[in-house]
Amino acid sequence: MQVRLPFRRTRATLLTGALLLPLLATGAGCAATTPPTDRSAATPEHPALAPQAAPAPARPLHAAVGQAAAEEQSGTRLAAQRHTGELQAAEAARQAAEAARQAAEAARRALETARHWGLATAPLAAPAKPAERPELTPQPGVSVRSGLPLVYRVPTDRQVVFLTVDDGAVKDTEFSRMAQELGVPFTAFVSGYLARGGYDYFRALQEQGVRVNNHTVNHKDLRRLDEAHQRREICDQQDELEQELGTRPVLFRPPYGEFTDATLRAAASCGITAVAIWNEEAFPDRIEYRYADQRLHPGDIILTHFLGPAQWHGATMADMLRRVIRTATDQGFALARLDDYLGRD
Ligand SMILES: [Zn+2]
Repeated sequence: MQVRLPFRRTRATLLTGALLLPLLATGAGCAATTPPTDRSAATPEHPALAPQAAPAPARPLHAAVGQAAAEEQSGTRLAAQRHTGELQAAEAARQAAEAARQAAEAARRALETARHWGLATAPLAAPAKPAERPELTPQPGVSVRSGLPLVYRVPTDRQVVFLTVDDGAVKDTEFSRMAQELGVPFTAFVSGYLARGGYDYFRALQEQGVRVNNHTVNHKDLRRLDEAHQRREICDQQDELEQELGTRPVLFRPPYGEFTDATLRAAASCGITAVAIWNEEAFPDRIEYRYADQRLHPGDIILTHFLGPAQWHGATMADMLRRVIRTATDQGFALARLDDYLGRD
């Protein structure tokens, strides 16, 4: 028993090879496993066999198997890496093709929408809102009076202009739907006496991302009013807009673009942080420029009004918006959201 034991171990090892090795290594219950007491008893009587009695014979084989396994593993790993690389390249190509397909589809839809609204091309898409709003220190397009910046042109190098719509007399849902479908942003400056009774329209505008800002309660020429009266015109409209729309404006536009230092002090006293003026005015049939070169400039603010056929000889706000979009697109400008640059989110 003691003599045959190593042979049995060797034979068993050779015969079963790698299959058995894991079992031996783990010491699982097996007939070939030699109890340590047997091995120590065998050594003195059969020295030649003694080394074989130890687990040593398994080692070279184990090493060989291990090396083969390692090589196989290494080869498999390389193949797997190649395979993974190929898969990643194929996935990247698939994603690029999908992105191109989606972009083409979006462009097709944009063109379809533009044609639906009577435009030959889709408006240029505005870049993402700037990470930080421009600082409104004195510079071309911006002056500061009584602590409040007056913005005639937004400081930006981007090819963007801003559409602003004033007063609030005509509440044209075709216009708001057109702007929304075309993805064209605008900002409203509303007078209370015109908006009252129709704030639902402005609430809907706000829901589509349009900020409704302050244009006084009664649309008076503020230069003719004393400071206390001006404060009522401006600050009461702040309260009214906050009450009706849930948001207190930070942008103000004086009626007719006319103001005094008292106007600016009054506006600053009730939450206004900037006064937005303009450099172009849009009508359904034309754009009026304040520049000699009769062109748009980066950061320009365009004024128009909530008006309709009665004031525009039968033309509508949709006609006015078409005029603005065509003009901006022809000159390489996108319409951007004024509030992203001057106001609040
Ligand atoms: Zn006005």
